[in-house]
Amino acid sequence: MSEISVLGIFVADISFSGSKIPAIGETILGTKYNIGPGGKGCNQAIAIARLGGKVSFISKIGKDNYGELALDTLKKNNISTTNIIQDENSQTGVAGILVDQNSGKNAINVITGAPSSLTTKELDKHIDTIKKSKIFLTQLEVPKEVTLYCLKTAKENNCLTILNPAPASEIKGFFDYIDFFTPNETEAEFYTGIKITNEKEAKIAAEKILEMGIKKVVITLGEKGLFYSDGKEEIYLKADENIKAIDTTGAGDAFNGGLAFALSQKKPIEECLKIANRVGGLSTLKLGAGNAMPYEKDL
Ligand code: ADP
Repeated sequence: MSEISVLGIFVADISFSGSKIPAIGETILGTKYNIGPGGKGCNQAIAIARLGGKVSFISKIGKDNYGELALDTLKKNNISTTNIIQDENSQTGVAGILVDQNSGKNAINVITGAPSSLTTKELDKHIDTIKKSKIFLTQLEVPKEVTLYCLKTAKENNCLTILNPAPASEIKGFFDYIDFFTPNETEAEFYTGIKITNEKEAKIAAEKILEMGIKKVVITLGEKGLFYSDGKEEIYLKADENIKAIDTTGAGDAFNGGLAFALSQKKPIEECLKIANRVGGLSTLKLGAGNAMPYEKDL
């Protein structure tokens, strides 16, 4: 049985690069396209597996070409497909990504597809996987009642829970079931109303989040690193300055995967954060999301 279970989505990232992101009504001739694995949950599961962690990925896909890409991706990364629900009446998720190749900026439209109809009843067939794992990691890309149900079940079974609150949305009633809460700066602003531009503002936002009932918070600060607090201990770590990022898509996913993996190794918190920081940074050295997750040897 896996030590870490991840609930989330797979999407096929379909990206189009060109000299600009076309305006509404405009057509441009782009330069290249790429199709690769994405979806926060899948990226996080890949990060854990590549670091050598035992991970189960719980998700729902369609019976179509992109569903095959999902199964192929999981197999290639040594992630079991036992907990993948395949529904022939649904489509596998896709994300259309338009990239401005000069600035690296993008505009993304995600169609989650099959997981948008995921129910707690379907999940019940896979709930033992969560019950038996030591760490449960999830995000906010599947229906909220399913996410809450899994967080509650995980906590009732003495599992350490990590919620990466992305994309940010209202999560009333979730807080008692979260051990680690890992927003990025924008998500932290959504939950606290505090715009974070420096360490001091990150500290104030973290305090506000802990007041909501969450036990430990890690705010990721992109190229600035991270801020951690559990109310007693506070840790600020800078990102690796030697890293020259070429594509930051999936950095947060790499970070969360790295954190879950390090926590499963029962390392002290500062070391866990250092590992997550490094995994997040390394993922920015390659293009794409799932395929950019680093391996244990890269650390
Ligand atoms: P998200 O992808 O969710 O927006 P962040 O941008 O905050 O998340 O990045 C997550 C983590 O990845 C950061 O805390 C840091 O450890 C690492 N990271 C992100 N961007 C860079 C960068 N340009 N250089 C080095 N590390 C980075």
